Amino acid sequence: MIGYGDGRAAAIERDTGDDFAAIRERFYVQDGVYYMDGNSLGLLSRDAEAAVHKTLHDWKTLGIDGWLNADPPWFYLGEELGNRMANMVGAASDEVIVTGGTTVNLHALVATFYEPMGTRRKIIVNELDFPSDIYALEAQIAANGGEPERDLVKVRSVGGRTINEDDVVAAMTEDVALVLLPSVLYRSGQLLDIERLTREAHARGILIGWDCAHSAGSIPHAFDAWDVDFAFWCNYKYLNAGPGSVGALYVNRKHFNRQPALPGWWGYDKARQFDMSHEWQGAATAGAWQISTLSILSAAPLIGSLRIFDEVGIDRVRERSLELTDYLIRLVEERGLDQEPYGYSIGTPREHTRRGGHVAIEHPHGAQINAALKERGVIPDFRPPNVVRLAPIPLYTSFCDVWDTVAILRDVVDSGDYVRQSDQRGVVA
Ligand SMILES: *Cc1c(COP(=O)(O)O)cnc(C)c1O
Repeated sequence: MIGYGDGRAAAIERDTGDDFAAIRERFYVQDGVYYMDGNSLGLLSRDAEAAVHKTLHDWKTLGIDGWLNADPPWFYLGEELGNRMANMVGAASDEVIVTGGTTVNLHALVATFYEPMGTRRKIIVNELDFPSDIYALEAQIAANGGEPERDLVKVRSVGGRTINEDDVVAAMTEDVALVLLPSVLYRSGQLLDIERLTREAHARGILIGWDCAHSAGSIPHAFDAWDVDFAFWCNYKYLNAGPGSVGALYVNRKHFNRQPALPGWWGYDKARQFDMSHEWQGAATAGAWQISTLSILSAAPLIGSLRIFDEVGIDRVRERSLELTDYLIRLVEERGLDQEPYGYSIGTPREHTRRGGHVAIEHPHGAQINAALKERGVIPDFRPPNVVRLAPIPLYTSFCDVWDTVAILRDVVDSGDYVRQSDQRGVVA
């Protein structure tokens, strides 16, 4: 593994011999920009762009007939894309469906799988959760006649950064009906032990679902082997399907007999959907959890984007991601950025088994550091109170990008640039 002592030349050399150089060429990486925010919004690939153009052309020329005659046919596109994504998450092809939005899918799944009974009414989450999940779960508890303050159990963190799996297990008491956790924490980038927590929940008769917004397209999953009950994720982060693109969900086939709590005609058995019967007959797959007509234009980029993942394979994506984040962490430390006067610290676990795809760089003036980095062409994002997130994306970030980013991290302090920035974060941070 190369480090600071090997110089920038070693980073260039590492990039030159790399198969990923050709993959990077397929993305619109802007000159002079170090794009480190692909965990929030992945970049556009030429493949995704071509897929959107193709879909527009199909609409132009086929009109309504695109539902069956476009390639792939729009009517089955959610199933088709789910099928193509299944391998990446360790699922059978009919257990994954591309549909809805992340929070909408959370609602649809939790409404189905949260069945409070007698004294078993609690949902376990954690205090570092993404806010949308909390809003949705509080509403789900209230809709079931419960009290969010009593029934939503937030596992406490270790120092506001990470969650200790032992604390989650300790919270799995007899009054818990459901556990809903992120695979990777959005701020610190900690990867939870999905397999262990799933096993521990099941041993206590508790169902468990996973919000994989920050792991899908970054980390291999084995949902079937781990026996996860359900999961959902967005496709606009590591999967590069564009701003607000359609989300995806997984339902373990052992639950296919369940009645989706928020049914809609798009989840109907496809062969008979156009019978227009008032009697709901759900698909015998995860497709039953679809609600509305798939947004074809916003699913289209995924047709192209998944082609790249098919070619590279999620294992190689993960391997390279760890190399890049290792390099980033190593450079921060070897350049002394975790010491005075720099004042940065790494908030992400060092162990590979506990690290997602981004690195949380903490700084007491994180909002100002973030603004100063942007002025210099580094695109990070800021999450209050003090985290600058940097995500070197295996498909399009080079080792040299990482080297330069760390040099700029140092320079915005050396030059005093960051002090001149406003300490107010932007409306979209
Ligand atoms: C990004 C993200 C979401 C996004 O929710 P949307 O409904 O797609 O806006 C949800 N959960 C987590 C953990 C996220 O990181």
